[in-house]
Amino acid sequence: MTFLLVHYHEIALKARNRPLFVNRLVHNLKRATADLPVGRIRKLTGRVLLELGDERSAGLVTDRIRQVFGVANCSVAHRSALSLDALQETAERVLTRRSFQTFRVTARRAYKAFPLTSQQLNEALGTFVLRRFPTRVDLKNPELTLFIEILPTEAFLYLEKVPGPGGLPVGVAGRVLALISGGIDSPVAAYRMMRRGCLVSFLHFHGAPFLDRRTQEKVREIVRLLTRFQYTSRLTLVPFGEVQQEVVVNAPAPYRVLLYRRLMARIAEHLAGLEGAKALVTGESLGQVASQTLENLTVIEEAVRLLVLRPLIGMDKEEISAQAREIGTYEISIQPDQDCCTLFVPRHPATRATLEEIGRAELTLDIDRLVKMSVERAEHEECAFPEAS
Ligand code: ATP
Ligand code: MG
Repeated sequence: MTFLLVHYHEIALKARNRPLFVNRLVHNLKRATADLPVGRIRKLTGRVLLELGDERSAGLVTDRIRQVFGVANCSVAHRSALSLDALQETAERVLTRRSFQTFRVTARRAYKAFPLTSQQLNEALGTFVLRRFPTRVDLKNPELTLFIEILPTEAFLYLEKVPGPGGLPVGVAGRVLALISGGIDSPVAAYRMMRRGCLVSFLHFHGAPFLDRRTQEKVREIVRLLTRFQYTSRLTLVPFGEVQQEVVVNAPAPYRVLLYRRLMARIAEHLAGLEGAKALVTGESLGQVASQTLENLTVIEEAVRLLVLRPLIGMDKEEISAQAREIGTYEISIQPDQDCCTLFVPRHPATRATLEEIGRAELTLDIDRLVKMSVERAEHEECAFPEAS
């Protein structure tokens, strides 16, 4: 039988959090491979082991697992009994039909009572390989490495470690609500929170009835893509055009953007309460646009009591775009659209508004009614990955 051996960064874990982390990782590995021929998934010392129902699916399963947060690396592995004979026999099976000029053996013992030390294992298996294959040892730069892991009741042998994304398993940190716009930044912000163990719900404000549905379609596509990393997502769509219109009619033009943002934050806080989300997440980065100065971020933040997380705050556009490309959201984000933020935007937005000025501008608005109306108009959509599951 073929196995997939999954490693996580154990050292980074506080002892008390470890069972929570590992159980969640196992749960997420199950969900990530729900539509693939994977049998039992077991927790071993410091590792997780997946049984593959069908060896030919190893590539497909690996591609899924390498995207699961919390995974440090994974390997297609072969099991062996705990004797030198059995290890040699398995090594021969693993190496047959491989051609390699140079190699090394890297043994590790999670089970320290095994009679041979790691070094003795390296030497014993190394000698065996030299006898059976036309090759030589190169410790520094080998063409092939035979990894051996000794566990309490079994051993595993493998040749390759595929790196995972690291981070924490989605779900261990709780739920957050990400404000998602269809731009480049907010999908990256959501991704980074998922990688820290958050289950992310999404909230999008759209320009209906004044703008077409293109942005909504983009946001759906982005959420579908990001759902690969957390298996289920909820997207909430809130029409914002009429709210913006009221702001335009009643408040001074330079404050419009900040007033929109404060209203968005309040509506988001309300919806977060309904969903059990413990924080809001935005794609803001310091100084990128007028609304993202320290002064204006302070003004936006003052509208709500909920924690507002801005994982991109210290990143520049180049770095954010590079990560968006890696995740795969960049190509969707750069499609032309009509974001509601482009609706009724003043020529000269205030870059350093004070709370006093904003407070005065808000006196002209019925904030509670606007928030209540928006919450009532919210529509929810669910998204799952794999789609069949
Ligand atoms: P992005 O690329 O994420 O749109 P941006 O650099 O264009 O960011 P802004 O348009 O000022 O910046 O938006 C700042 C943040 O406010 C966004 O990252 C997002 O979190 C939130 N936001 C903006 N517009 C919307 C919207 N229509 N719906 C939900 N959230 C939004
Ligand atoms: Mg934007």
